[in-house]
Amino acid sequence: MDIQYDVIIIGAGPAGMSAAIYASRAGLKTMMLEVSAPGGKLIKTFSIENYPSIKQESGADLAYQMFEHATSFGAEYVYGDVKEVIDHQDYKEVVCQDKSYTCKSVIIASGTTEKSLGLANEQRLVGKGISYCAVCDGALYRGKDVAIVGGGNSALEEAVFLTQFVNKLYIIIRRDVFRADKIIQDKVLNNNKIEIIYKHVPHRIIGEDYVEGLELENVDTKELKEIKVSAIFPYIGLVPNTSFVSKLGITNEQGYILVDNNMETKVKGIFAAGDCIEKTLRQVVTACSDGAIAGQKSYHYINS
Ligand SMILES: Cc1cc2nc3c(=O)[nH]c(=O)nc-3n(C[C@H](O)[C@H](O)[C@H](O)COP(=O)(O)OP(=O)(O)OC[C@H]3O[C@@H](n4cnc5c(N)ncnc54)[C@H](O)[C@@H]3O)c2cc1C
Repeated sequence: MDIQYDVIIIGAGPAGMSAAIYASRAGLKTMMLEVSAPGGKLIKTFSIENYPSIKQESGADLAYQMFEHATSFGAEYVYGDVKEVIDHQDYKEVVCQDKSYTCKSVIIASGTTEKSLGLANEQRLVGKGISYCAVCDGALYRGKDVAIVGGGNSALEEAVFLTQFVNKLYIIIRRDVFRADKIIQDKVLNNNKIEIIYKHVPHRIIGEDYVEGLELENVDTKELKEIKVSAIFPYIGLVPNTSFVSKLGITNEQGYILVDNNMETKVKGIFAAGDCIEKTLRQVVTACSDGAIAGQKSYHYINS
């Protein structure tokens, strides 16, 4: 049969676009399939300040430059909402909402979606006080009062990180104990910029054009109270965008894709890169690194 592409990359965020640069520059017939605009989470990011050689750049501008670079070596960019990846061993099939494509190798770079608080105004105020990335946006709230929602490791680690910028930090948790490791709990409990509000959940975001505060509900008494904050960082978890590979058995319990050092899954010829894989630091620079490896190893797979 006629296989349409050497490699199909699912997702055109930093990981997918880096994979496209390496694969297409190596001469592979490459396609990026993307359900939204190219750039992934970059286009939701006001400012990138921690990507080597770029001291400060808007996420949208960096996304545009990556896209120009990725397509300059011939990688195609096609709209598609991937629903399934089927392994036919000597070739792979990528099934979209209305069309299927065949290829020799697949790179999954579909990222994650933040678990939201589920409150009115939340999506509208993303970038205007609602942020899902303290490492990225924390410095924007220098000297302000902010809140983190969540009691797991990442919530507490990001809380400690934020205290280097902010005036005061509230941690809102539903229970009366943290889920996080003791070592990070101790750091939080000994930090005098942090006030922990136990047994409360966010009830309403205050502010029309930008975040001005948060109304909290006591989980026992249902009593409401308000705190004045300029930013709210929900850390109640991420959801990997990997449901379309659920039948392949390549994910962990949370849905993150398991890969080896070559970014290859246990299914030969299926690679994964970026935020959708099991890893410890989800940032642009690590997504690009994963994508580069996946693109290069996909070339080796096809030529072996
Ligand atoms: C607000 C914010 C600020 C941030 N700031 C920084 C920062 O300053 N510095 C930094 O290094 N990192 C920052 N990050 C993190 C960084 O953006 C991510 O780590 C990085 O974008 C991950 O790249 P990725 O390519 O793996 O995934 P993503 O960027 O999430 O891209 C995945 C792409 O896959 C697409 N996709 C998903 N499912 C499908 C499907 N079924 N079919 C087709 N396409 C699909 C998505 O539409 C998306 O375009 C920030 C994140 C956020 C949310």
